[in-house]
Amino acid sequence: MRLKLVQVGEAVLRNSARELTRDEILSRDIQQLIDFMHETLRDAPGVGLAAPQVGEGIQLAIIEDLPEYSRNLTPEQLTERQRKPVPFQVIINPTISPIGEPEIEFFEGCLSLTGFMAIVPRYRHVRVDCLDEHGQPKTIEASGWYARILQHEIDHLHGKLYIDRMYSRTFMSLDNFTRLWKDATPAEVRSKLLHE
Ligand code: ZN
Repeated sequence: MRLKLVQVGEAVLRNSARELTRDEILSRDIQQLIDFMHETLRDAPGVGLAAPQVGEGIQLAIIEDLPEYSRNLTPEQLTERQRKPVPFQVIINPTISPIGEPEIEFFEGCLSLTGFMAIVPRYRHVRVDCLDEHGQPKTIEASGWYARILQHEIDHLHGKLYIDRMYSRTFMSLDNFTRLWKDATPAEVRSKLLHE
């Protein structure tokens, strides 16, 4: 079943989500929610979906970056973005720790802000401690695009959206992103949009 995607303006996107107990994780309701979220993510399509985006204020998110989503990117763009496919995974009650200092800047969009994009600085490397869909602890060390997705989704569990972290002068419609900036480097966008 495809779930309705909550759009910005609804309080559930701005509240901190609550943690799940192990019993809840193993319950039929949550297992079914995970399946429905997966179907919803594939249908969108998108690379990550957090429970608040389907109206559930719980600390659960899913990630999946399929190879075909990168089909139209050049090898240079893939390298620049450090983007590799990520198999489907479930993240529950996560804590996230940045590793190292450097931040990287890239365009991001969100299924709860349909039709917009902006440049958002994110940590290059992160470590995430969380539970999986069986309630088992797992640790993820991620870099590049995968680290960006994790930061974006875990923000959702704390009532934060990319617009809270973006360079607001780079905020734009998806149409204009596709028409004007899709192939530009962040440095080019910076020089043309970020000057005062
Ligand atoms: Zn989002």
